[in-house]
Amino acid sequence: MPLEVIPDKREMAIRAEEFRRDGRRIAFVPTMGFLHAGHVSLLEEGRRRGDVLVLSIFVNPIQFGPNEDLARYPRDLPGDLEKARRAGVDVAFVPEPAQMYTEGFQTSVEVREIARGLCGDKRPGHFVGVATVVTKLFHIIKPHVALFGEKDYQQLAVIRRMVLDLDFDIEVLGMPIVREPDELAMSSRNAYLSGEERQKALVLSRTLNLAEEMVREGERDAARVLSAARALINSVGGVRIDYVDLRDAVTLAEVARIERPTLLAVAAFVGKTRLIDNRVLTPRS
Ligand code: AMP
Repeated sequence: MPLEVIPDKREMAIRAEEFRRDGRRIAFVPTMGFLHAGHVSLLEEGRRRGDVLVLSIFVNPIQFGPNEDLARYPRDLPGDLEKARRAGVDVAFVPEPAQMYTEGFQTSVEVREIARGLCGDKRPGHFVGVATVVTKLFHIIKPHVALFGEKDYQQLAVIRRMVLDLDFDIEVLGMPIVREPDELAMSSRNAYLSGEERQKALVLSRTLNLAEEMVREGERDAARVLSAARALINSVGGVRIDYVDLRDAVTLAEVARIERPTLLAVAAFVGKTRLIDNRVLTPRS
């Protein structure tokens, strides 16, 4: 099936309806475009999970804060469509903001506790923007299965909670973080980094490795792991911590001790670029 590119949400909804009527299972991967191997890993798994694979490319304005990078977010629609073709995408849904947010738009979806702390505190309104757009995309595309990356761990937790709470009949699949050979987590925002910043950014994954090693060697005290993690990041000039936190890997509740699978989540500014990374630390019992 050749790639269909659909900018219109009504047309997309009708196509989705046809797929369902034909008894086809719809797999869906939502993205903001500027696709990299992390996105492609979601598409490849989606290809295996569904009869029809739908990709959305939409830089969602309502999930960006006023001082964030909406205006300069990297875009490359022709390149993305080529990657989509190669990954076996059937439909690329590529709406304009004016299509998604028509005049008078005033409704939002808020997931509460699990959207607090971490990026939720640092990016006010972000997860309301995410939950709202994902709800709209789910209604338009009507997927049976939707795939998200663990790179955005809290986002995945918010979507899982929302799907449960609002009875979306959709299977949510979380996929592992895809990294560059030097372990930098892939991100569209890596395009902002200069060569020197790119090197400095490696401290994020090194911090995850350090914490993992501490836990492997028996450390259970969250404060000690956090202080070692912060010290390592602070040792690199030009890198500024936004947050470093340990949370229960399922509930995202704060933890004092690492006795169960525990999320280490890191956000830091490398120059002006805000990067995030995370790892689940699992103590041996
Ligand atoms: P984005 O375009 O940044 O909104 O990301 C779209 C989807 O791709 C989200 O579910 C992300 O979690 C996922 N994603 C982004 N980067 C990676 C990565 N390095 N590995 C795996 N998934 C990723």
